[in-house]
Amino acid sequence: MRVAVIGAGVVGLSATAALLQRSADVWCYEAGEPMGERSTGHTRIFRLAHVYPDMVELAARSRSLFAAWSQRAGTALVDEVGTVVSGAGAGEWAQAMAAAGAAHEVVEAGSPLLRLPAPTFAGPALIDPAGGVIRVDRIRAFLLAVAGDRLRHAHVDAVQETSAGVRVRAGTDVDTFDTVLICAGAGTSALAAGVGIDISPALEHHLRVSFPVRPGAPEPLQCWITGAADGVLGTYQHLAAHGSWAVGGDVDPALVGWGGGREAAERASAEIITAYVAEHLPFVEPRPIATVYCTHDPDLGDGLQFRRRGRVLTTYGENLMKFAPLLGEILAEACLDGSTPADAGPGAARVTAG
Ligand SMILES: Cc1cc2nc3c(=O)[nH]c(=O)nc-3n(C[C@H](O)[C@H](O)[C@H](O)COP(=O)(O)OP(=O)(O)OC[C@H]3O[C@@H](n4cnc5c(N)ncnc54)[C@H](O)[C@@H]3O)c2cc1C
Repeated sequence: MRVAVIGAGVVGLSATAALLQRSADVWCYEAGEPMGERSTGHTRIFRLAHVYPDMVELAARSRSLFAAWSQRAGTALVDEVGTVVSGAGAGEWAQAMAAAGAAHEVVEAGSPLLRLPAPTFAGPALIDPAGGVIRVDRIRAFLLAVAGDRLRHAHVDAVQETSAGVRVRAGTDVDTFDTVLICAGAGTSALAAGVGIDISPALEHHLRVSFPVRPGAPEPLQCWITGAADGVLGTYQHLAAHGSWAVGGDVDPALVGWGGGREAAERASAEIITAYVAEHLPFVEPRPIATVYCTHDPDLGDGLQFRRRGRVLTTYGENLMKFAPLLGEILAEACLDGSTPADAGPGAARVTAG
């Protein structure tokens, strides 16, 4: 089976790795730097915790697959420090964890089980002990080694189904495949539209900012997701590297909308996140030392969507890093047997097959 994977972000590379394991003749097209767009940076949050039990179960499967990858890579790809979800919604997340049979605990601020950069915060806290820091830098090295010479550095202009197979056109180069998988991140909706799959092209600017951790902070710090409350920013936070604390936030959509431009969105996000750190995180110095920028779809949230038209399959979603090895397996199987994987979590309503 000849398969083209379009996009060498974490999803495309994971699918390429899984297809190679199944002895497919796979080629992965990448227009820029592999894992240089939405998969950029060194770290992300892993968590079993989701508000949907099916997503908790999928995350548990992904965690096992990360363990298998870690063995193959010879290094830990997830640092299991735990992830905490706090705020009024923590109870709902806990219910989903319970329904999926995932280990968890609900505590109040001040619990000795918490290792966060702030001793007080709004609402109860759900502790997800299987959560932790995803080592993106290590995953990039691992997946690039596995993909090897199966990477084609080319921008795909169009995908077209013909009676002879699926044609992939990149500049003047045209190749034909038995099946094509589009996982091009922000480029997915344009390519998918060409084969009649209608995916929302909604985009927003998003910034994560890192700050120095002050001496005396608890160790090792847990990853932390805080719900928005009483004018306080909803955030996600984790160790970006030793002594460096990364904070991203749900900034007002009016400030990070696509039309306002990247520069203005980055400036507004950095100001808002820095002010949040100064006010709420006593163990973090409100002095930005690094940023990670990406585009994202503001309406998708946690969820996995899959669409097929003939021999072309595409996947779309947000927060996909934690599902990378599982997505690789699911997509490889679907490429080879012609099926369409089932959607999971919310957001599916906005993505429709044309
Ligand atoms: C700041 C930030 C924080 C995040 N936090 C988390 C987190 O804590 N936990 C989590 O699980 N996830 C998190 N995510 C989300 C996660 O990183 C992304 O969902 C995931 O990396 C997306 O991978 P992808 O392969 O779908 O997309 P991408 O990495 O964007 O890959 C798509 C690739 O396709 C290529 N491409 C596009 N168009 C074409 C074309 N026409 N021809 C050839 N190539 C093309 C692009 O160059 C790109 O390399 C975060 C993301 C960011 C940026």
